[in-house]
Amino acid sequence: MTTSRVAVFHGPDRPFTYEQVPLPVPGPGEILVRNEYTTLCRSDLNTYAGKRIEKTPTILGHEVVGRIERLGPGPALRDLRGAELRVGDLVTWAIYASDPESPLARAGIPQKAAGLFKYGHERIGPGSQLHGGLAEHCLLRAHTPVVRVEAAIPLPVLALVNCAVATVAGSLRLAGGVAGRNVLIAGAGMLGVLACAMSRVAGAKRVMAVDPDAGRLETARTFGVDHAILSPGNVDGLRKLVGEQLGEESVTVALDYSGVPAAMEQLLSTLGIGGTLVLVGATYPQRPLQIDAERMVRNLHTLRGLHNYNAEDFLAAVDFMERHHAAFPFESLVHDRFTLDDVDEAFAYGLTSGAHRVGIRCECRRAA
Ligand SMILES: [Zn+2]
Repeated sequence: MTTSRVAVFHGPDRPFTYEQVPLPVPGPGEILVRNEYTTLCRSDLNTYAGKRIEKTPTILGHEVVGRIERLGPGPALRDLRGAELRVGDLVTWAIYASDPESPLARAGIPQKAAGLFKYGHERIGPGSQLHGGLAEHCLLRAHTPVVRVEAAIPLPVLALVNCAVATVAGSLRLAGGVAGRNVLIAGAGMLGVLACAMSRVAGAKRVMAVDPDAGRLETARTFGVDHAILSPGNVDGLRKLVGEQLGEESVTVALDYSGVPAAMEQLLSTLGIGGTLVLVGATYPQRPLQIDAERMVRNLHTLRGLHNYNAEDFLAAVDFMERHHAAFPFESLVHDRFTLDDVDEAFAYGLTSGAHRVGIRCECRRAA
């Protein structure tokens, strides 16, 4: 094979076009990966729908897993655990590559550091085309965190690791950990459901999820939720329902994956003394939040925001999935019916079906 088939995104409401691009020879520190499976992240769907704007033309898809096809010359390349990488290894890689010596990277925020390159988000141009999941190949840049996967995890589940699972791992880190604490999660979509399972495994005292969709709450029940709360849609209602579950205790970790301002304000209203609210879902333009500063001060609250994740979170995500992939029905969250031939249909299905994720096998049945 000397070329790779790619599905090119040109902008909202425009069909994908298919191109054959020459396979590059990886340079020092680079890795050519044969993509195996990509899941469409909510941000891919939002880009497709025009809810957020990306540089175009581009190759979408950043929740992706693949096998090493060719390694660049020079010293042996190692993964985040120190294992030497070899051709044929099944690998997952971070959404970002950046300069590890830059101040932000040294401060533990490589996803915003100098020289940032984000897979599934960059404009394609001459000699720089294979950087998304909706293609047969991806060229990993130097300084991309890579992990060789050791466990036999189904591909649709493994693909979730390098965006959804790693982002949730980051939010649990920013919350200061959840062991022994009462956790309230807003939004029972992909990230919310993962947060339920990961909080359960991490030893949370009680795991609660709130969502306006009864069907999504039903799904959350199979991912370690103690109390699934149908959103009453207002502050007083949620405080009452949470109070009925916790009695004298209170919520000390609140996690928002909904991205809905009213839901974030309701979460904040349930937070007890010393509690932390982590905001994750608000990744598109929206109204400002109303915050009662006096209540926040008197209750020693902490408010944190998270976008993407760092290498520590990424490794925690791989560890979690290697150990616990069989403990929860993760495969049921991914609609596994499409290939690279059906990208337009896959996006349409993702936007209309309510599926937690739509998966795409990175293979083509039709000729280019
Ligand atoms: Zn994503």
